[in-house]
Amino acid sequence: MKPLLMIPGPIEVSPAVLEAFSTPPPGHLAPRVIEAFGESLAIMRRGWMANRDSQPFVIAGGGTVAMDMAAANLLEPGERAVVVNTGYFSDRIAEMLRRQGAEVTEVRAEPGDVPAIEEVARALDAAPVKALVATHVDTSTAVRVDPGPLAALARGRGVLSVFDGVCATGAERFDMAGWDADVYLTASQKAIGLPPGLALMVVSVRALEARRARRAAAPPMYLDWEEWLPIMTAYEERRPAYFSTPATNLILALETGLREILDEGIEARVERHTRAADAMRSGWNTLGLEMVPAGDDVAANTLSALRYPEGVDAALVGHILEQGVIVAGGLHPAIRNEYFRVGHMGYAVTQPEMLSRTFQAIATALEKSGVELDTGAVDRATATLSVL
Ligand SMILES: *Cc1c(COP(=O)(O)O)cnc(C)c1O
Repeated sequence: MKPLLMIPGPIEVSPAVLEAFSTPPPGHLAPRVIEAFGESLAIMRRGWMANRDSQPFVIAGGGTVAMDMAAANLLEPGERAVVVNTGYFSDRIAEMLRRQGAEVTEVRAEPGDVPAIEEVARALDAAPVKALVATHVDTSTAVRVDPGPLAALARGRGVLSVFDGVCATGAERFDMAGWDADVYLTASQKAIGLPPGLALMVVSVRALEARRARRAAAPPMYLDWEEWLPIMTAYEERRPAYFSTPATNLILALETGLREILDEGIEARVERHTRAADAMRSGWNTLGLEMVPAGDDVAANTLSALRYPEGVDAALVGHILEQGVIVAGGLHPAIRNEYFRVGHMGYAVTQPEMLSRTFQAIATALEKSGVELDTGAVDRATATLSVL
């Protein structure tokens, strides 16, 4: 049997998504690609709960390209950015901002926690700031920030707000219009439910204006919103256009994947991921596993970060694989060898048997590593999935 891919991206994809990209590569001017591209852009505004005048972008690349794009378009040398740092991917975007020549203030918490909003406010008030940047779900710790209050802090001060939603978009609540946020970016292989290969983002009018008002040199061409804007406009108007070849198979899959999200409804989908995450947490508890996040209120819907029990180390990940399930090791540099990560987003959350297989594989691997589980623990963990 093919091992089950339960890492925090790439993830198992739905049969419909699989079918959509399993086709000989169409040309980028093929009518069905233009249609799928245009439709995807329109659906993104709704999935992101964004204003009609906001601008979606779909670019071949990964989440890292989307992050670089936000940094390169918005920050000029000498301008200040505040980064709410919750882990590995916050470190990455802080470094990207520094490479733009920005002065970066990082507001940090202990691994597994979120900085207090007052501290973020103090950093914003200390000196003029161009952008506030936060990682919606930091995939290295499974910690989720609450974007609404952060976006409000930024807006109240005329600061742009940028959220890395790479492990969140499509499974965590994000009300781009309601919160008046400026950039919400993601990649195709996480909660959106596609293979890797696409950088996706929706950008506010304000953020596009900030790019246009730029005095420093233009961003590198591939990262420049101004280069891509006419292309996105053309696709939305169902006209052919070319700047750099889109990942055509993935564009077909994108329309299918986004339509699945829209058909369920973004709110219902977030709700389902919330229920799944709650069930997974009770399951971990039953198996005697402790979580990295400091509390359920800061724990993500999309993945769990679990500490190795006493006497168990990173070899556990290999033992879980022997049981036919792929999970991920630790990623946060300060605690890398102390925990492992399990993704629970997208298609897997519609398939309770995938989640119960995961519980079973982890329980067996724990027992092989010498951990004694209570009798019936796996059954009780699995029973929590009945809410799905
Ligand atoms: C995965 C991830 C990224 C990086 O995305 P890539 O597609 O691997 O470049 C960035 N931020 C977060 C929060 C992620 O989970």
